[in-house]
Amino acid sequence: MARAHLDILYRGPLASCNYACPYCPFAKRRDSRETLRRDADQLARFVDWAGGQTRRTLGILFTPWGEALIRPAYRAAMASLSRMPHVRRVAAQTNLSWPTGWLAECDPDRIAFWCTFHPGETPLDRFLGRCADLDARGIGYSVGIVGKREHLPALAALRRALRPEIYLWVNAYRDEGPNHYGPDDLALIRSIDPLFDINRAGIRSRGRACATGESVVSVDGDGEVRRCHVVPARLGNLYDPDFDDALTPRPCPLAQCRCHIGYAHMPHLGFRGLFGAGLLERALPPPFGAGAASGTGAPG
Ligand code: SF4
Ligand code: SF4
Repeated sequence: MARAHLDILYRGPLASCNYACPYCPFAKRRDSRETLRRDADQLARFVDWAGGQTRRTLGILFTPWGEALIRPAYRAAMASLSRMPHVRRVAAQTNLSWPTGWLAECDPDRIAFWCTFHPGETPLDRFLGRCADLDARGIGYSVGIVGKREHLPALAALRRALRPEIYLWVNAYRDEGPNHYGPDDLALIRSIDPLFDINRAGIRSRGRACATGESVVSVDGDGEVRRCHVVPARLGNLYDPDFDDALTPRPCPLAQCRCHIGYAHMPHLGFRGLFGAGLLERALPPPFGAGAASGTGAPG
């Protein structure tokens, strides 16, 4: 019998980045040669495993600690995965700083990107040029920004410059407490991202249904499987032949879920229907606005 679809959030040991965003705990971190070699070897094993999973369909989102796509191993992995018939989507979180020629090797219908613009690290025009390149190749993507108040002019400029069909999300900035935003800031952000209040408030998740651990899993470089990136309990190892036995519905054990990567899989929010095929790369289809938020219920 064919197995069901499985979404995998993959995060290997790589943690270095070519940017140094002041709000990032991993900025300026360097990976040793040994770490990069181990990361690439583990990635190759994961791609091999994915290639053999022809009895189920897969969705894969790379969620590295740092920037993975400056590394040839990740570009080759995404290109290869995008061409596997049973891989519905392969996506990655990225700063979009890399040259795009390798995308010619990818299936544009199945590769996608969760792109974050980092003011201070790159000029807006350069970032927009990369977005235009994705557009020209017919590749799907979302764009977002860390919602510091000083980033709001860049947010408005992004909204003016991006194609209207591209969803522009804002991650709430929490380090400066709940009073970081004034009423005008909130009005601007909400006019651009109808789902901002969900991200800002988080979801009271304890005891609620969440598809992680059943049809969505978090996997590290060793193949260790957890339900999501923030619940530490181990469910098994991806490379054990009977690992599927661990996949079962289970309620969330944590008080709050605060990241789209996680709460996107809580059925009561309806994100799977709302985002459709763009769920992994966070690409909400238009039209945005009140309609998008009203389908989700109140932040819980
Ligand atoms: S681009 Fe992302 S990973 Fe790199 S320093 Fe900025 S926030 Fe951190
Ligand atoms: S609700 Fe969030 S924290 Fe809880 S299990 Fe799901 S993804 Fe993890």
